[in-house]
Amino acid sequence: MAANLEEFLLSPAVWQPQSSGAAVRLKHALGPLGVYTAGSTLLRTQWEAGGGKLPTHLIDLTAIPGLDRIAVQNGELIIGATARLNDCSSHPVVMERAPLLADAIRQIAGWSVRNQATLGGNAASRVGDAVPALLALDACLVWHDGEKQYTEHIAEWLSVQNWPGMLEWVETRDTIGLRLLTSIRIPLPDEYTTKQTRRWFAYHKAGRREAFMPSLVTAAVAAEVGEDGAFADIRITAGGGRTVPLRLTEAERLLRGRRPEAAALRQVHEAVREQYVPEPDPFATDDYRKLTLANLIAAELWKRK
Ligand SMILES: Cc1cc2nc3c(=O)[nH]c(=O)nc-3n(C[C@H](O)[C@H](O)[C@H](O)COP(=O)(O)OP(=O)(O)OC[C@H]3O[C@@H](n4cnc5c(N)ncnc54)[C@H](O)[C@@H]3O)c2cc1C
Repeated sequence: MAANLEEFLLSPAVWQPQSSGAAVRLKHALGPLGVYTAGSTLLRTQWEAGGGKLPTHLIDLTAIPGLDRIAVQNGELIIGATARLNDCSSHPVVMERAPLLADAIRQIAGWSVRNQATLGGNAASRVGDAVPALLALDACLVWHDGEKQYTEHIAEWLSVQNWPGMLEWVETRDTIGLRLLTSIRIPLPDEYTTKQTRRWFAYHKAGRREAFMPSLVTAAVAAEVGEDGAFADIRITAGGGRTVPLRLTEAERLLRGRRPEAAALRQVHEAVREQYVPEPDPFATDDYRKLTLANLIAAELWKRK
């Protein structure tokens, strides 16, 4: 009984704001004592691993009406931050127009976790396995700062150095960590569906075993392929483990206007190993992860040939 009472007294208060603005204002008021929570699946792993103190206040975002909406508006796919991963990957528009994202999501955790986890929580972590796909799809993030909403390109956000890590979010008073992700916007350009070019996507995640494992490396490719098989445009991104995803711009440059022939792929392989600098991982060396990533990307491109 005493232990239960102690647990009860240690339990955080759970707040359920009814709008994004109210959630951010609450976070401002609570400062480091309050933590946004959506599906709580990532937060849970940190608390269970002893990596972060249970906060005094949880700001539950899932009660905000409409924040889980998935819709197409003005040529963009808009996914609300609290949309569950399974709802995203099984949504007809996501499956048809952004299959890269659906594919990436299906490789995150298991079914039960994906039923609880949100796309916003995955993206907000900066290292979630959906992030390379979002970057390859040229997504924009819509934030709320407590007063207004504003949009930021995902590449710009990912390029911010020294972003407070999630565990530090509990401690930080930096306003950048106080804002709320409200939705993710993915362009669905019409020209990609014309007769002259076709869209082509590939996503690959490699871990220490085939499924239910954190990633060691992830690669996503979104390309526009001409009738001659050459890449009219291509975006190649990489992440994995605690590595913040980035675009592999040199590999992209080498492929633009070319078919994925052996000579081009040899150059791409080298460029990938050069540009990808993974965050250290206790289970695999940097060299192993660089080589794995280069092999995965070259293999996916070769299949396209
Ligand atoms: C068994 C298991 C396996 C997993 N496997 C994978 C995997 O393979 N790949 C992978 O990427 N992840 C994996 N995860 C981690 C996690 O499930 C996903 O990253 C998930 O998408 C996180 O979403 P969530 O809604 O649960 O986030 P939460 O845990 O609720 O939040 C995550 C972080 O984001 C912040 N946050 C949440 N929503 C917002 C918002 N709208 N605005 C601002 N900040 C916000 C929270 O404060 C917190 O810091 C796994 C987790 C478990 C338990």
